[in-house]
Amino acid sequence: MRTPFVAANWKMYKTVAETVAYLRDFGTLVSAVDDVEIVVAPPFVGVHAAAEAVRDTRVGIAGQDLHWEREGAFTGEISAGMLKEAGARYVIIGHSERRTKFGETDEHVNRKVKAAVGAGLTPIVCVGETLEEREREQTLSVLDRQLRLGLDGLSADTVAALAVAYEPVWAIGTGRNATSAQAQEAHAHIRDRLREWFGAEAGDSCRVLYGGSVKPANTRELVSQADVDGALVGGASLDAKAFAEIVAASRPGRI
Ligand code: PEP
Repeated sequence: MRTPFVAANWKMYKTVAETVAYLRDFGTLVSAVDDVEIVVAPPFVGVHAAAEAVRDTRVGIAGQDLHWEREGAFTGEISAGMLKEAGARYVIIGHSERRTKFGETDEHVNRKVKAAVGAGLTPIVCVGETLEEREREQTLSVLDRQLRLGLDGLSADTVAALAVAYEPVWAIGTGRNATSAQAQEAHAHIRDRLREWFGAEAGDSCRVLYGGSVKPANTRELVSQADVDGALVGGASLDAKAFAEIVAASRPGRI
């Protein structure tokens, strides 16, 4: 059975002080949860303080992006090793905001995934179609391309251990979530492809998260789908109580 996985993507919100205060409250709210993998991705500057704040808890810290090189003349960038040293255990890669606003390609995603794995970070690899692509019935072919190129060259063991986040671009930050049927269709397709390309065990072990306007009120319906293993949450994760409710609604016994 796959352990549910719920991750918060704070984007460019929260100072270091706000990060520490949030995690103190949030840690208390989820202290009894031992059956969900919980991850919080603050802005880079908060990673170290966040990792200190969650020390000795079950909450893990993620970076929101990374550069694939170990070091070099890449002003403004940060490497996998730097994130790891700062205390991150996970990293979000290929978020649609990186793809659409910063020109990130599937090839970039692939290099980043390999760098993350090489440094011992668990990647959360984001894929998803735009509204135009969905209306043209290209959703599944877009997912195929993003997954095939983004995960190219990875071993079955690596794929088994990472998380894929299906995030339809039209559902991110819009308040309009995919229906549970739309999510399940995409998730089942992703899992089928992972089984086909990396073997049944990898496909069955990889956690596939849904992202796009997840809130406490719609979590249970989404995560009750057979191939939805948890959520990547933006806006609603900025509030510790709301994010704790999303974690609670993702617990295996509650589904
Ligand atoms: C995200 O940023 O990954 C996301 C899913 O955002 P939101 O929950 O706000 O739609």
